[in-house]
Amino acid sequence: MAQFQRFAQPLGSRTAIASVFAVLGVGAYCARSSLLPTTYAESNEPRKMFSGVGFTSLRVHSVKMVNHDTKRLVFEFPDPEAVSGLSLTSSLLTFSRPQGSWLPAVRPYTPISDLAQPGFVELMVKQYPNGKSSTHLHLLAPGDSLTFITALKGFPWKANQFSQVYLIAGGAGITPIYQLVRGILDNPNDKTKINLVFGVNTEQDLLLREEFDEYKRRFPDRFNYIYTISHSAENSLVRKGRVTEELLREVVKDASDKETKVFVCGPPAMEQSLVGSRASPGILTNLGFAKEQIYQF
Ligand SMILES: Cc1cc2nc3c(=O)[nH]c(=O)nc-3n(C[C@H](O)[C@H](O)[C@H](O)COP(=O)(O)OP(=O)(O)OC[C@H]3O[C@@H](n4cnc5c(N)ncnc54)[C@H](O)[C@@H]3O)c2cc1C
Repeated sequence: MAQFQRFAQPLGSRTAIASVFAVLGVGAYCARSSLLPTTYAESNEPRKMFSGVGFTSLRVHSVKMVNHDTKRLVFEFPDPEAVSGLSLTSSLLTFSRPQGSWLPAVRPYTPISDLAQPGFVELMVKQYPNGKSSTHLHLLAPGDSLTFITALKGFPWKANQFSQVYLIAGGAGITPIYQLVRGILDNPNDKTKINLVFGVNTEQDLLLREEFDEYKRRFPDRFNYIYTISHSAENSLVRKGRVTEELLREVVKDASDKETKVFVCGPPAMEQSLVGSRASPGILTNLGFAKEQIYQF
């Protein structure tokens, strides 16, 4: 239970440990800047920005409002040849000092940019009412900086480990799911089929819609998605409702196939209804998925 609320709760146990490190300043404050030589200086390999633990300050290159509460922020690497060095499904632990708070905020965010792209990393951040970190990030303007502590690894993805995956996302929980979609489909050696179910409150919350459409156009046989909106406008062509058992029964055909994996990321109520609790099984169990087949970000 604690694990599947990780995305929704500001800090899971791993992130809490990392924040203690951050706040106490355990270890050296190894601020890495463009001026410092790196271990990659004499190799042909590009420098990896997030290869260890150590505060990395990155400049905001650009900010774009996506809808009423979500922004995309591009951070530039001091070395334009450098790459993120992140593995698929990783997130980045950020450190900020929000206005009016004497305690720093340490929160993870999941890059939506191509992880191998040199020169920058892009985050997509939803602002929560009174949210310490998300409000701080929403106040950033080009030229400001944000501190990154370390990378947090997610699921150890291996190409073709599964014949197909079901990806179920709610709201801002789409970011790790999108990272996985683009990592699979942009890898010519990975033939995994993808079925995405994305549930949101309103049509404006259908984040990354153009990107998903483009993947659908490029991979019509391997990538399918279904959107569902809780509060849809009358003239909306998108399906109405939440991510229910009925909807998932339409999408999921072969849950008991052990070559199938399901990834879930969304708000606590949605995750609980999908994965269940000690007291009651969730929708995914009812559909025939075994516990080992389910991964929660
Ligand atoms: C591995 C991981 C990756 C993440 N990636 C992203 C990402 O790419 N983009 C992104 O926007 N967020 C992401 N998050 C969530 C992010 O880390 C923060 O939890 C979020 O920005 C809220 O932090 P805050 O300091 O602004 O809010 P807080 O000050 O901690 O909380 C303020 C209020 O908002 C509510 N709240 C906080 N988080 C949520 C939530 N997720 N759902 C509903 N209510 C909430 C709290 O209950 C509280 O009432 C990720 C979380 C994890 C664990």
